[in-house]
Amino acid sequence: MKITEVRAYPMFSKIDPPSWTAHEISDSASLILIEVRTDEGISGYGEVQGGPQKLICDLAATFGEVIAGMDPHGHIDIWEKLFSLTSPRPGGLGGWDGMPAPMPRTQRPQIMAAIGGIDIALWDIKGKATGLPVHKLLGGTADSVFTYATGGYYIEGNPITACADELGSFVANGFKAVKLKCGALSMADEVERIRATREAIGKDTLFMLDMNAPYGVDDCIQFAHAVEPFDIFWLEEPLHWHLQPADFVTLANNSPIPLAHCEREWHRFTVRDFIDSGSIRYVQFDSTRHAGFTESLRIAHYAEARGVQIAPHTAAHIHAPLVSAFGDAAFGAESHGSHERHPIQHDIYSGGAHFRDGRVHLSNEPGFGVEINWDAVEKYKA
Ligand SMILES: [Mg+2]
Repeated sequence: MKITEVRAYPMFSKIDPPSWTAHEISDSASLILIEVRTDEGISGYGEVQGGPQKLICDLAATFGEVIAGMDPHGHIDIWEKLFSLTSPRPGGLGGWDGMPAPMPRTQRPQIMAAIGGIDIALWDIKGKATGLPVHKLLGGTADSVFTYATGGYYIEGNPITACADELGSFVANGFKAVKLKCGALSMADEVERIRATREAIGKDTLFMLDMNAPYGVDDCIQFAHAVEPFDIFWLEEPLHWHLQPADFVTLANNSPIPLAHCEREWHRFTVRDFIDSGSIRYVQFDSTRHAGFTESLRIAHYAEARGVQIAPHTAAHIHAPLVSAFGDAAFGAESHGSHERHPIQHDIYSGGAHFRDGRVHLSNEPGFGVEINWDAVEKYKA
């Protein structure tokens, strides 16, 4: 089997009312569907969460030319070939060797995202070609995995404790664990939101905080002690974006609550340093943002060996098979508490992994088990 072409379908949908994390507005959903075609009529599908979409689509098309003619089962060869374009190589100056010139440093996030979308599609092809769902390709037999629901985004004009009703409704819908966005308000207001939410979700629900990098080390130690009485399961992305593993070590040594991190790391080499530091107890990676399923697997194997729990960021329909294959080494998959959070993801796929009763149930159809609803792809076309 040979790869013939890579196609990218950018999609966009307004979300009203807009909401916020501690760091950024969320007034739209977007997604790039990546299709890898082969000469045997099998197409695989991956997705990219990132932007600018035009640049990522252009990169995907360029990468499609680079990997045309390669065996789609060779996900390692393909990943390494594309990743090699990000560094100088003998004879590569100016692209004089027939390959693209070393890629611009400024485009690294988009390059990693495009590699990710293509790589996910290769796993879909591998499953379709062998007739196996991805979790069985990986050696997993669990056909459902634990999941939690994320919510509590800030909406202008809402009372600060509106999050309590929202997360309480997730529990009423069957979730056994919920994650609250926090970090945007004063520490006193955040403690009030967290107190109200714990009251609404009851004492038996796992309760995580998704902080989106609001604090320096000392402030975060103070915050961790302030919220300790509410039985918090993890603090996610607790420190400012520029702080490094050494800073997480200081926090971990002084926080009564375990840390989760790494959803914004681009590849295994920086995640390795967080894991090696001993500061994080849960490692989060995102195949759809950076580097794909293959890199997530590398990180997951490393984390397992180091005793750090695997907790992939979003895209449960893609990450749940990986969670299935890691047994007790994986914590679970992340879900949206409501389909309104990402209408595109909800509408363009039929089949595949789906939420029910606090768990993500996996499809036994080949690959990721999804059919593409092309009418929806057209409807959301960016
Ligand atoms: Mg997060």
